[in-house]
Amino acid sequence: MEAKEHTTMMCTLLAIDHTDFSYRACSLCERTLPDNPSSLCRYCNPSAFNPRFPRSKRFFRILMSIASDTKVFTVICFDRVAKVLFGCSADEFFDFARFHPFSAANASRILEGEMFKMTISKPKNGNAQNLRAVQVVPLKTGFQPAIVTLRELYGVRSS
Ligand SMILES: [Zn+2]
Repeated sequence: MEAKEHTTMMCTLLAIDHTDFSYRACSLCERTLPDNPSSLCRYCNPSAFNPRFPRSKRFFRILMSIASDTKVFTVICFDRVAKVLFGCSADEFFDFARFHPFSAANASRILEGEMFKMTISKPKNGNAQNLRAVQVVPLKTGFQPAIVTLRELYGVRSS
């Protein structure tokens, strides 16, 4: 990749790492939490949480390989961008996947081969390894986010 901060290109999604596509975080400060549902944020005051909402939520963090017209590379995409691909929140997807085996593998298969106009940025801090997809726009007319196709596949009515 050239030394530009942002690059926008047409690309094809080749594969998604579906083994690890989301993580738990504190719903207030968004610090990453262990996957164990009972572990809660040590930094936020318990009374600061709205009792009507869970104290943790899930965020998408997805590694995928994409191909431009000249090369193949790996990008990471976070919650906002992943929602375009999945059509739901990471929590909704996680819950769906708990009751529908192979959802993540199927979601990745559904999205493979889709074409996107993608804006890629270089990592800002030195520790971050991956190029980051900061915007994706599906190119296919009538693009269906993964969750829509999954609900059809598993015969689930969307509520
Ligand atoms: Zn917190």
